[in-house]
Amino acid sequence: EVKVPSNFIKNIVIEDLESKKHSEIITRFPPEPNGYLHIGHAKSIVLNFELADEFGGTTNLRFDDTNPSKEEDEYVNSIKEDVAWLGYEWDNLFFASNYFEEMYKRAVLLIEKGKAFVCDLSAEEIREYRGTLKEPGKNSPYRDRSVEENLDLFERMRNGEFQDGEKVLRAKIDMSSSNINMRDPVIYRILHQNHHNTGDAWCIYPMYDYAHPLEDAIEGITHSLCTLEFEDHRPVYDWFVKECEMESVPRQIEFARLNVTNTVMSKRKLKQLVDNGIVDGWDDPRLPTISGLRRRGYTPDAIKSFCREIGVSKSNSLVDEQMLQHFIREDLKVKAPRVMAVLDPLKLVITNYPEGEVEYLEAENNSDNESLGSRKIPFSREIYIERDDFMEEPVPKYHRLYPGNEVRLKNAYFVKCESFVKDEDGNVTEIHCTYDPETKSGSGFTARKVKSTIHWVDASTAAEAEFRLYEPLIDESEAEGDFLENINENSLEIMNGYIEGEVAGAKPQDKFQFFRHGYFNTDPKSENSEKPVFNRIVSIKSKFKI
Ligand code: ATP
Ligand code: MG
Ligand code: MG
Repeated sequence: EVKVPSNFIKNIVIEDLESKKHSEIITRFPPEPNGYLHIGHAKSIVLNFELADEFGGTTNLRFDDTNPSKEEDEYVNSIKEDVAWLGYEWDNLFFASNYFEEMYKRAVLLIEKGKAFVCDLSAEEIREYRGTLKEPGKNSPYRDRSVEENLDLFERMRNGEFQDGEKVLRAKIDMSSSNINMRDPVIYRILHQNHHNTGDAWCIYPMYDYAHPLEDAIEGITHSLCTLEFEDHRPVYDWFVKECEMESVPRQIEFARLNVTNTVMSKRKLKQLVDNGIVDGWDDPRLPTISGLRRRGYTPDAIKSFCREIGVSKSNSLVDEQMLQHFIREDLKVKAPRVMAVLDPLKLVITNYPEGEVEYLEAENNSDNESLGSRKIPFSREIYIERDDFMEEPVPKYHRLYPGNEVRLKNAYFVKCESFVKDEDGNVTEIHCTYDPETKSGSGFTARKVKSTIHWVDASTAAEAEFRLYEPLIDESEAEGDFLENINENSLEIMNGYIEGEVAGAKPQDKFQFFRHGYFNTDPKSENSEKPVFNRIVSIKSKFKI
């Protein structure tokens, strides 16, 4: 069983259980359905679900759908799919919009207690009246409306008698508080807009600072985990729980958001990339979305191990993307079959190999995991090798093929380059080699050594394939200025080559290590394309150490 590494939140939970403040832990993951989930959300998902799990508690998946303008069912569905794919089962599925009536009643209660008022100031004026960090705010001229008048106006707001922006409901807290969030925050605004769940039932919608604590309290959430930017909102959170007389009192605890180098991590920015056609949808393998990582070939285990490793703290930090890559390598190292693929093919003819003959060579599927067994690979007179495994005139320290040099063909024989053929433009089109039958792989041949082993595929049985290689989409993570100006134009490189014939039958999401090239995922969106498409997840090696 997986345990959350010790952290300050876990310590609070342990304390609360020991002191009997709570007999059971209830957490929630509360996404707003205004985009697809990203790796930052994964951090929150892992934290909430595993914390509750470890202490026998429960976790709700709650859609924080209180803002109709950006929310869509497509996002609701993708979020459910992604949480489930990560391997978590929510105990309850809730929509904040189902609490609209309850929230409305509690707002009426605030008005009755003289703790809320209807305000006619414009958004602009409200901002001016709010003051600054150094200057206290000024009371709204509408602050002293009578309870009766407020009740009447609020009801008429609900009934649709006013235009968007004409009036708001505000909490009556303290315009001179040193915490600006406490200066009579807006609770409800008018928005004549269709809502993905409640349709046209409402034309007033609660603001986040009011809605969130109520949602948590309604569900009996014990520990409400959110990111650090909400630290200054905690007094508002506590105020609403208290003044709305919620029976259950949740505790908000803030932790640092996850940021990763060379990418953007905000639904707003990700949506811009999608909407501007810079990427191929929310699941583009270059995006840090859960669906993008899935399509790239990341596994739930790799993502979760990464989230556990980065841990939870109170200080914001930027995590190197190589750390994420480290975990997928670790996961696939022993799981993925190791096969051969040639991304940039050059034909090699073995002139002393009998024409028309084919032999089958034994190849281990994963030298670090015997249980994956072995396979037979065809070998014959014509094969493909990588174009850059041959040089007409070798540079110093180049030990692969060049005229007169001998290399080992992985799982096969030594071959020696005898000559090559060029086309009219001077491009090498074919190289001619001889092989030495004595050097067969596994035969125990030791009479002479070669300095390189290269991979290859048998030309007559190989299957054509497309390979997609990725570079970071953003040159500098969240750099100053518009991130759209830092788009890497070369983030996708498409190669057309060959794979071992058998690999052509790969199913969507099947993963391989292509010898010397890295780990690849069978692209799930290309199932019906002419030839299989493989997305490179990561290259083989990295200098990164945990
Ligand atoms: P974004 O800014 O990317 O849209 P958000 O915080 O607005 O993110 P929500 O849908 O409101 O997204 O977030 C759901 C939960 O996920 C919240 O509890 C939030 O704190 C958490 N979360 C979002 N982004 C991160 C992140 N980068 N690191 C850790 N937790 C995150
Ligand atoms: Mg949000
Ligand atoms: Mg946000």
